Amino acid sequence: MLNIGYHLSISNGFEAIGKQAIEINANTFQFFTRNPRGGAARKIEQADVDALKKLMAENGFSQILAHAPYTMNLCSAKSETREFAFNTLSDDLQRMEYLPGNLYNFHPGSHTGQGVETGIEQIISALNKAMFPEMKTTVLLETMAGKGTEVGSRFEELAEIIDGVELKDKIGVCLDTCHIFDAGYDIVNRLDDVLNEFDRVIGLERLKAIHLNDSMNYLGCHKDRHQKIGEGGIGLEAFERIINNAHLKSLPFFLETPNDIDGYAYEIRLLRDLAK
Ligand code: FE
Ligand code: FE
Ligand code: ZN
Repeated sequence: MLNIGYHLSISNGFEAIGKQAIEINANTFQFFTRNPRGGAARKIEQADVDALKKLMAENGFSQILAHAPYTMNLCSAKSETREFAFNTLSDDLQRMEYLPGNLYNFHPGSHTGQGVETGIEQIISALNKAMFPEMKTTVLLETMAGKGTEVGSRFEELAEIIDGVELKDKIGVCLDTCHIFDAGYDIVNRLDDVLNEFDRVIGLERLKAIHLNDSMNYLGCHKDRHQKIGEGGIGLEAFERIINNAHLKSLPFFLETPNDIDGYAYEIRLLRDLAK
């Protein structure tokens, strides 16, 4: 069965979003750990989390994915920004222990002129300080589009970060289809080649989740503008190949397309119909 969900807001608590996911035939979801612009995280109620866990077990949910705020930049040239990002990461990883065994995804960051190598070193050092041996979460680096000074638009950069992380069994990658297409990886015409390259450089065993988004733009544009499934540069046939690919089909897929709840329900139905 296809494991598919979508990004939603946890404003009404975890149990409420679990129920909403089930209503539209999703069996996973992604949520922001806090306001995407940063700031304090919402208090976690044990009863609410327990209700979600029960609901997930009863409804065959795959792992869920927590997304760090996109303002969290572990490799900014500004030390206050880096420190704020580190505190966010560290607090998020502690809080994830309420939902043990799930996934935490973040954008590696933007080096803001320091250079990729300095950026990578700063990301590695933050991860090694924030991760802890008892943690039950897998931390995922998201593949990026290469907008501005973003780190992580090349598989080699992600591999270098992973290489520096001490707790190797707790680090992986979330592949965003819009981002890698915008970064120049041709998943439309050469999906197998791209996955072979991922395997050679990073290792497919590190791939833990997929962000399923079409792109408003063209291959290699470095833009990062998500589009509805089948309505952008990637197109529906490519998505059919992606969700049915032998290396990918059992991973959890998360929609981050520009949609309201009805739009997500439609895309989930569409993709479930295409899943073999
Ligand atoms: Fe993201
Ligand atoms: Fe994404
Ligand atoms: Zn994006």
